[in-house]
Amino acid sequence: MTDAGGVAAHVDAGRLWRRLMALALFGATPKGGVSRLALSQEEAAARAQIVQWGETIGLEPSVDAASNLFLRLPGAEPDLPPVLIGSHSDSQPTGGKYDGAYGVIAALEALEAIKASGRQPRRAIELVLWMNEEGSRFAPGMMGSAVFSGVRRLEDIVGIKDKAGVSVGEALASMLAAEQKLPRRPLGFKAAAFVEAHIEQGVTLQNEQRTIGVVTGIQGKRTFRVEVEGEESHAGTSSRADRRDALVSAIAIARALQDAMWDAEDAVRFTIGMFSVAPNAPSVVPGRVVFSIDLRHGDAETVKRLGDMIPEICGNARGACEVKIRELLYDAPIEFPASIRKLISKTALRLNLPHRELPSPAGHDSRYLHRVCPTGMIFIPCKDGVSHNEAEEITPGDAAAGARALAEVAISLADSEVIDPR
Ligand SMILES: [Zn+2]
Repeated sequence: MTDAGGVAAHVDAGRLWRRLMALALFGATPKGGVSRLALSQEEAAARAQIVQWGETIGLEPSVDAASNLFLRLPGAEPDLPPVLIGSHSDSQPTGGKYDGAYGVIAALEALEAIKASGRQPRRAIELVLWMNEEGSRFAPGMMGSAVFSGVRRLEDIVGIKDKAGVSVGEALASMLAAEQKLPRRPLGFKAAAFVEAHIEQGVTLQNEQRTIGVVTGIQGKRTFRVEVEGEESHAGTSSRADRRDALVSAIAIARALQDAMWDAEDAVRFTIGMFSVAPNAPSVVPGRVVFSIDLRHGDAETVKRLGDMIPEICGNARGACEVKIRELLYDAPIEFPASIRKLISKTALRLNLPHRELPSPAGHDSRYLHRVCPTGMIFIPCKDGVSHNEAEEITPGDAAAGARALAEVAISLADSEVIDPR
């Protein structure tokens, strides 16, 4: 078969959309969203479907010890490290049909298009599904990519439990048992590059009517767990002077933090998303409050400075209670290599797709892959920026455009002599 229109011409918009809709049935919610938690039965069923689609195209499935799933299109030079493309198939408990799933199905479509073009890439190209990106069942998220890229060790995550008391280790064992017929890959093999297609989860592309977002990087993030320790006492008998009310202290701390994180340009993202009061009984002075802090900013110095202020602010506002602060995560902002960004921009230009560079405020598996190989991301518009929501929406046209760009970028990387890591 000749290759007159390049591999992008072989992207089938209808097939891509049908697969997206079919995948959304695994964990479908009545409101049109998806509940497909990491390593759940719903995700296992979705993965089985993806493996089946891949095998029909002629891709070779495999899985590693962290349940990262791979579907390989072999290259002409089998000894070269593969180019990885993909995303994740888990969702938030009330998530949408496209966060993660789009990047997976777009990658599948890209591989099918490359196959249909009759071209064999120099390097293998592999679709990858990273385990537990969302972190809603097992926190923190991006576990599979973290383990793959050596950020975390497998033995450090297997003990983490979900609300029902099931550990990551147990859930991994069930998933690996369900996929025992798949060949096992070593954890963290060398990759030539990674490209992730994803919905924007913001409104920049929609507002400017552009189809392709060339992602420049990912903003920095620090997360903390704050424990305020007071003393439980009788609501009717203990005087104000004697109380060590953990809720009163926690509210004062939260207020002080909100004030300190205020910025005129509205670039700081500061969130207390989890707040738990114990014993949480109407007639007991609260003895203990635990809350979370999620702090993000695009600038490395600002993320450091604001995060470093948190212990002192908590200490000053604690009143009669004790306060303990634990930092759970510190990810500095990252910038993807110019070589990959340029390739995506040039490809979009060639395909006549309106595009622009933009940063990613949300975290993605690409953050960790960036540490081990040249990495980039392709965004497509999502309606009104709504995501992590059952109402998440994209258009079939944008979905196909992203897959066309991804297919061309993937084959360029797979065929290139060297991939510039800068
Ligand atoms: Zn995602």
